[in-house]
Formats: sequence, structure tokens, C-alpha cells
Amino acid sequence: MKAAVLHRPGTPLTVEDVDLDDPGPGEVTIRVLAAGVCHSDLHYMNGDLTARLPAVLGHEGAGIVERVGEGVTRVRPGDTVITLWRPRCGDCEFCTTGRPALCALGRVQAASGGLLDGTSRLNLNGEKLHHLMGVSCFAERCVVSDRSVVVIDPAVPPEIAAVTGCAVVTGAGTALNVMKDATGEGVVVIGAGGVGLSAVMGLRLIGADPIVAVDTVDAKLDKALELGATHAVNVRTHDLAEALTRISPKAMTWALDAVGAPQTLTQAIDVVGTGGTVVAVGLGRVGATVPVPINPLVQQEKRLVGSLYGSANTPVDIPKLLELFKAGRLPLDKLLGEQYELSAINEAYAALSQDATGRAVIFPNGKC
Ligand SMILES: [Zn+2]
Ligand SMILES: [Zn+2]
Repeated sequence: MKAAVLHRPGTPLTVEDVDLDDPGPGEVTIRVLAAGVCHSDLHYMNGDLTARLPAVLGHEGAGIVERVGEGVTRVRPGDTVITLWRPRCGDCEFCTTGRPALCALGRVQAASGGLLDGTSRLNLNGEKLHHLMGVSCFAERCVVSDRSVVVIDPAVPPEIAAVTGCAVVTGAGTALNVMKDATGEGVVVIGAGGVGLSAVMGLRLIGADPIVAVDTVDAKLDKALELGATHAVNVRTHDLAEALTRISPKAMTWALDAVGAPQTLTQAIDVVGTGGTVVAVGLGRVGATVPVPINPLVQQEKRLVGSLYGSANTPVDIPKLLELFKAGRLPLDKLLGEQYELSAINEAYAALSQDATGRAVIFPNGKC
């Protein structure tokens, strides 16, 4: 099968003929219908984040279960599924308390470059390839643990299902799970990529107001306004603090940093007012830090919290988000950007680096 392989950071992906083993016990084979072009993969490509290489990339996927391994009862061949880049083992202290984004076994899987048992089902010319976060869906097919999938309504278009598995559950999930007290409160969302735009949709749903989108690209800000932001500030051409004073006499209560750069997280800490909360969602370069001014933190009782994968209980929250889409409450269709064949994956990532608008999607088995 065709799959997009990263051999070394700083080199393009190569679409190659990769052999995929049969699913082992507790695993499933998925025919990948759509895979989202997420910024996290770019972090691995440019070396900001490290993974075991060579690996097949892609972690935001949707498809049809083709085969199931021994002992699999959660899913059946023919089921439509979304892949999870953080599986829920179901048994660790985080899974049993409804926080599978923090699953202890999931973190072990990610570090191993394999599936849950640490081994790989991917081979290139007789050599083992690694999986990215137990998924590797930039491929015609992938084998994943049955704990790395959520069964969904087959009526949901695959491109929407795919982006829901990372960008939407991360952005909208953060709004609904972490920022649920933001109704009627001013919120700044820094970064209008897939996650930031999804956060805007979630914040709109819970009635945050104003919702100020911040970016350096006007086209992305236009998209944020289309998806529910009440205001947009281009920080390439405008001073954020000044712009916020004009938007509202009251300081912002919440700031979400979807970018993960020291500069943007610092901006988020600066713009929230007394009693405000900063939610860090975007991942930065390994080892990146920000200085936090101590006195405002204490005297204004600011809070700084991290949120991974929307702090979502994925098997519950993902179907819920798709129901909201079907009910017309989350316009996920408007989140979508360009669509590509697998062979054009480097083009898709070049466009992402050059400020593409909306979430792009790859169709590894052709556009359906
Ligand atoms: Zn992602
Ligand atoms: Zn767990």
C-alpha cells in the first residue's frame, strides 16, 4: 500500500510502497478515507518535536474497519471509525477518571513508536517502520489498537470525521470542557488554524462574548469571523492590547493559545485581566519555556492551565461533537480547507507552512 514516510527531520515525506501486517490481537485494520493535515505532523517533520523514525505520519484519520484481530469486540468490519492519537486503555487512573487524553499507556505507546504492545505493523523493504502516535493514517490503510478508535455515524462525511479526531475535539473540546464558564465572558483565541477555529466554534456555542480571534494572516481571521468570532485582530499590523481596549472596556477573562510559541503564550498571559485564565493548547518546540510575571499571577489571581486533546473523554465527546454538527450547531464543514491526494502530501504541508486557510484533508484512497 502507499504511505507517506518521514525518514529524517528536515526532509520531505516520501510516498512509498509500504507493507502492512495483519492486525494482531486487539487490533484493527482501517481503510483510510480521509486524514487531516495537522500542524503536529509538521512539528515532527521540522524536528520541533521528536518521534521514532522512520515513521508513517498522520494521526487525524477516519475510515472503515476492514479486518479485526483476535479478541476484538468493540468494533466490527464495516464500522466507520475515527482514529485517536491518544488511546484510552480504560484501566489507568486517568482513563478511569474520565481523562483518557492523559492515558498512561497512551504515553508509553507514543514513546515506543509502535502500537500498544510497543511493536510495529509497518515494513519498508523488509525493515520495520514506526507508527506515529499509534495511528499513521497518511496511508491507504492503517493497523491500530481497538482502543485507538471511536465508532461514529457512517453518514458523517469522512473529511469532517477525520478533522474531528484531532483539531475539532482539541479546539471545541477545550471550549466545552475547560472554558465552560466562559458564557458571557470575553475570550481571546490566539491562532486561527484548525484548533483555534474549532475553539471559536465551541466558544460561540457556549455563548462567550466577545470572542476575539488573533492571527497574523487576514484570510485566517476572515475564516474565524465566519465561524463565530465577534472580532478579529491582525497582530502583524495592530497592537493587541490597544485593539482589546477598543473592543471591550472590560479585560478578557479567558485566553486560549492555540499556537504554542513563547511569544503567543506570553501574549495570552498579558491580555487576561484580574481573575482570568490562560489555557495553553498549542504544542511548542521541545524544551520551549515562557517567563511568567510572578506578581500579576498572584495579585490578580491569574491562572495558567494546559489542556491536551480538548481535555476530552474522547469516546463520549467525539460522537457528541458530531451530533452538534448534524444539528447545525457546529459548522464543521466550513472549517475544511484544501483537499489533496496522498501523492500531493508535501504540497499540502507546504501550503500549511505558507498560511493555508482552514483544515486541509488528504484522501489516501482518492476522493470519495
Ligand atoms: Zn493533530
Ligand atoms: Zn489509560
